[in-house]
Amino acid sequence: MDAADLRCPYQESRLKTTASLVDLVRGNLANGTLHKRNLVWLELNGCSGNIISLLNGQNPDFQYLITQMTNFIYSNSLIAAEGNYAMDQLFNVIGSDYILAAEGAVSLKDNGIYNIIGKNNGKPVTGLEAVKALGEGAAHVIAVGACAAHGGVSAARPNPTECFGIQNVLQKKAIKLPGCPCHPDWFMGTLAYLLLYGEPPLDNRDRPLMFYGTTIHDRCPRRSYFDRGIFAEKLGEETCMFKIGCRGPVTPTDCPIRQWNGHVNWPIGDDSPCIGCAQFGFPDAMEPFISYNTTRGG
Ligand code: SF4
Repeated sequence: MDAADLRCPYQESRLKTTASLVDLVRGNLANGTLHKRNLVWLELNGCSGNIISLLNGQNPDFQYLITQMTNFIYSNSLIAAEGNYAMDQLFNVIGSDYILAAEGAVSLKDNGIYNIIGKNNGKPVTGLEAVKALGEGAAHVIAVGACAAHGGVSAARPNPTECFGIQNVLQKKAIKLPGCPCHPDWFMGTLAYLLLYGEPPLDNRDRPLMFYGTTIHDRCPRRSYFDRGIFAEKLGEETCMFKIGCRGPVTPTDCPIRQWNGHVNWPIGDDSPCIGCAQFGFPDAMEPFISYNTTRGG
């Protein structure tokens, strides 16, 4: 019997959440009960890590997303158009039915001038201007990754360009998918749910419960060590890493079952403490990422 046969059936079904939702979308698109909707991917003040993460997606892959599942209108990093053509492609979507996915924080200092996403007839277009205009007209807004959800690394001390999560400048709710980066399954599953049923069940910070409903600590394979008080004192030890800084107890995601890069591995599986990248306040509130003060209380 291999390890897969020993997996809890509940965990197995949670792991397949995204694939199941996408299969439903696939079927409904094929039989005509669902139609493709426009998707705009706006990159603000950040590192483009979330679109790179999405390119690694397998449930489904990125090509399916942009060719079969949605009309993929715009992405700063990926579109071929430049200059006015690109800006027209972006802003001409306003007035149609579209979903906005935004990654990166919105920079507010000096009216947003430190985050320019393009030029329109020679005039700089700020991320602030773009997210306000596109956010208000969107059917749904998804804040993808830590920076869009709550400011993230872009808003870390001393936050020189006054970065914030996109909710700070929007009147409508942004569904928040924190993570640095956001797991491709979290985005694809949320998008599929939106296409099928509308807004998914959310927690009190607007995170989808299907992905953010349980802490890493609750499903960690090292939990038995924690419960018995057996703690690692340095990296590389195969016991609970709570005393060297693990933030699993305060980070609600499904990393223990979903893992990363095609379910290959995840930080704790590689003897590295969770740094809380999917919790609000990351990175400042989650530091220090590693601590050798092993007197930290249980
Ligand atoms: S390694 Fe982290 S998430 Fe796992 S049991 Fe210990 S404190 Fe909890």
